[in-house]
Amino acid sequence: MLKFKAFTAATAIGLLALGALAGSAQAQEKGTIGIAMPTKSSARWIDDGNNMVKVLESKGYKADLQYADNDIPNQLAQIENMITKKEKVLVIAAIDGTTLSDALQHAADAGIKVISYDRLIKGSPNVDYYATFDNFQVGVLQAESILKGLGVKEGKKGPFNIELFGGSPDDNNAFFFYDGAMSVLKPYIDNGTLVVQSKQMGMDKVSTMRWDAATAQARMDNLLSAFYTKQHVDAVLSPYDGLSIGIISALKGVGYGSKDQPMPVISGQDAEVPSVKSIINHEQYSTVFKDTRELAKVAAGMVDAVLSGGKVEVNDTKTYNNGVKVVPSYLLKPVSVDLSNWKQALVDTGYYKADQFK
Ligand code: BGC
Repeated sequence: MLKFKAFTAATAIGLLALGALAGSAQAQEKGTIGIAMPTKSSARWIDDGNNMVKVLESKGYKADLQYADNDIPNQLAQIENMITKKEKVLVIAAIDGTTLSDALQHAADAGIKVISYDRLIKGSPNVDYYATFDNFQVGVLQAESILKGLGVKEGKKGPFNIELFGGSPDDNNAFFFYDGAMSVLKPYIDNGTLVVQSKQMGMDKVSTMRWDAATAQARMDNLLSAFYTKQHVDAVLSPYDGLSIGIISALKGVGYGSKDQPMPVISGQDAEVPSVKSIINHEQYSTVFKDTRELAKVAAGMVDAVLSGGKVEVNDTKTYNNGVKVVPSYLLKPVSVDLSNWKQALVDTGYYKADQFK
């Protein structure tokens, strides 16, 4: 009896081991996918990474997920390492979209396909596909929410003072966000409904290197002391929640957020939890939700199609010229979120849990 027990236990362990082997053999067969993400300092990229790993594993791949702390040499080293390890496909959200050409040439020489994730990689012929959101539309939504918050859409004439912030000048998206926003705001600036007291307009004047909140806060501090000691700032175009947090700190520092000195209408992007809380607390006015679960699905679908020789699904073959070629893209739809729809957009869809906002 004892012997029999020992035998069955050994057999069971053996079978388990065999099962594990078969599992890893399958994952190995489908191979490892390299995922290079820019930074963990913003929650959206953590969600992106986790969602990518989840979807890839569900399709039978292994995932090698790396974050680069917003440090370009670090990201380059991570990508070179993925190439050395002969990972099957690289999915890259670049820190600086213009610095990867050599690494991507090495990838191409090794027969490794590259998918640009969320941010377009520029200046290289070796970018095979691009999975992203409609970045121009993100800017349109930000600007429309500002008009909504000011009541311009209901006929209020202003004039309203507005200041403009742009994203990182090394991120192609930042130009799309700014251009999208200006396509809506410019006519109102031209007809005097909106006034940029600082006259600082154009990405060369309003960009924020590496999307850094402290940089945005310092610029807002300067704008307030130079142009708003006697005037009230009524709106701030901010392209990203992290920057909005810095901008709000500067505003609070000089007394905004009270009855006599209400917060301006401030936009954002990414629907990060602290900023959604800020919307609930009537500080930030709006954000733009980009469902990273969907982006991960699209990017993983591209990986699978590339490796199985299937047809890669794209819905835009015109917009994203990276300086060398137009990269076939799949654009997802961003969603504008404010006090009126945050629950429906973020909780009812299962993206966040209600108790994250308590
Ligand atoms: C992304 C935005 C994000 C920004 C800062 C952009 O490339 O598209 O969603 O807010 O980077 O991380």
